Amino acid sequence: MQVLIVDDSQIMRRIVTGALNKIGVQKTIEASDGAEAVRTVSENNNIGLVLMDWNMPNMTGLEALKKIRANGKKVPIIMVTTEAEKEKVIEAIKSGANDYLIKPFSPKDIQAKLEKFLKNN
Ligand SMILES: [Mg+2]
Repeated sequence: MQVLIVDDSQIMRRIVTGALNKIGVQKTIEASDGAEAVRTVSENNNIGLVLMDWNMPNMTGLEALKKIRANGKKVPIIMVTTEAEKEKVIEAIKSGANDYLIKPFSPKDIQAKLEKFLKNN
């Protein structure tokens, strides 16, 4: 099973990958905006979890989430958001997001969030 890390910041993708590696998740792939995320999810059936940044060029995380759900994909999606964007999380949950994670987070935070999703895969 692969975890798809979606973020327009390469540094952020590296941080998330590092945090996942630290908790034993080795198979990670990346997308740098929402459009690439939608494409990757529709082409790759091995993705078991998506970590989706909110603010990205081309297509935001929320738009990508809606598109992935519109495509009928049920892969768990965790929205990664800043404290300031927390209010918007409700819309994401209503649009089919499974959970959210607030930046900045420690490997421990990410582990706590991911455990319930990874257990099933
Ligand atoms: Mg961003």
